[in-house]
Amino acid sequence: MKTGRTWFLKILTVAAALSLHSCDAASNAPETTVLQGATLFDGTGSAPVENSVIIIEDEQITCAGDSDTCSPPADADIMDVSGQYITPGLIDAHVHFFQTGFFDSRPDAMDISDTYPFAEVAAYQKKNPERYYDAYLCSGITGVYDVGGFTWSLDFQDAAERHPFAPHVAASGPLITPDPRDDFNLPTDKTLVRLDSEQTGISTVQYLSELDATGIKLWQIPYEDETYMSHIDALAEEAENRGNALIAHATELTQAKAAIEAGTRLLVHSVSDTDVDEEFLDMADANDVIYTPTLIVSSGYMLAYRAAAGVEAYEINDPNNCVDGKTRELMETADRFHDHSQMTDSFLSRLEAFDPDEDRLSSTELSNLMAVYEAGIPIAVGTDAGNPGTLHGISIYEEMEAMQEAGIPPEDLIVMATRNGAKAMEREDEFGTLEEGKLANLILLEDDPSQNIANMRSIEQVMMKGTMKSVDAITAD
Ligand SMILES: [Zn+2]
Repeated sequence: MKTGRTWFLKILTVAAALSLHSCDAASNAPETTVLQGATLFDGTGSAPVENSVIIIEDEQITCAGDSDTCSPPADADIMDVSGQYITPGLIDAHVHFFQTGFFDSRPDAMDISDTYPFAEVAAYQKKNPERYYDAYLCSGITGVYDVGGFTWSLDFQDAAERHPFAPHVAASGPLITPDPRDDFNLPTDKTLVRLDSEQTGISTVQYLSELDATGIKLWQIPYEDETYMSHIDALAEEAENRGNALIAHATELTQAKAAIEAGTRLLVHSVSDTDVDEEFLDMADANDVIYTPTLIVSSGYMLAYRAAAGVEAYEINDPNNCVDGKTRELMETADRFHDHSQMTDSFLSRLEAFDPDEDRLSSTELSNLMAVYEAGIPIAVGTDAGNPGTLHGISIYEEMEAMQEAGIPPEDLIVMATRNGAKAMEREDEFGTLEEGKLANLILLEDDPSQNIANMRSIEQVMMKGTMKSVDAITAD
């Protein structure tokens, strides 16, 4: 009996193998794709390769370089992309899936919950991440790091990986904070966990780590509060034991230093209150900290307020039509809230005095970015997308352009927007550069991004895990 059963199973296995084989033969699709002729920026920072060859098998790159290094197999499907430019897919290292780009998801900034109950907004965001997946890919973004949200944002990590065409997602889940506010907590789920004891910190780290949180997010570091800092020490120890890393919102220099001292490896914002000093730069360097400047998010609030007040419509700079209809409608109808109680005369005069060109960027943030850059600290590109006035997807262009305005050379910005973002997501072994063994996540551009980072806007196609789509074919509705 035993022998007979084994024999029967063998026949089944052979039959299955044959049918798989014949299925492949019937589809007649070559398994190897070759992109040939473009100028390649591989994301490592090495010199661009002209007339490059990238060989892709299924999801993976098997060779990327010049034609001497990489020779395409005879049966490959060869795409002539000469005259174009290729970089790895972009990474936005700072986003929030629970936030919509308007005030409906930020009742603390302007409460419009009579029109949009926050609980309903949060539920919608949980159920409908696909429109943002499309907006990201359409903008060339193949990876995002959600650095603070409801616990459900952690589910997107796996869901996006299983999705046929979505960016990679890393997520930290709820933020750990001294802030007693409850504005964006729900009775059933939280975005903010108040760190009121060592045990709260330890339990939160245990829970989020078991749910595969990529980092543990600290929001504000009250370094003068010894009790609070002892709670942070306890949770930091638990995070370290679990192989998880701290990430932090710490926009004051003293807070940023305290965050690094507590073990933070990713600063998700600029230091913006004062100039960074040698001590900070040395600490960041010694602790392998990644710095994410988020230069445009603060003034994004002003632009959204100005739209809500009816001072000036919010301008959506979106030639590739990547922004979804719901977001577009929210922004285009913002002035419905022009008589909101927040629009006092003094607030209105502040909004009117704001100059979208002159006041868009903070000079302290710009000079700190250059100090961090010159000290050789790794920098990642992050937008804080989802905050009012900072839209998912397209905001990455403006953020990169602001970093260029600070003085970062565009060829270095390519590395910051790709490899360093993957490093922030702790997935640099899998993607972020175009090298043998990495996933084939890349973008094709019409214009040279090393001449001007604004040329990232000339994106024509995006490849995610070996699947290529024209950005025109990605509709974010
Ligand atoms: Zn944020």
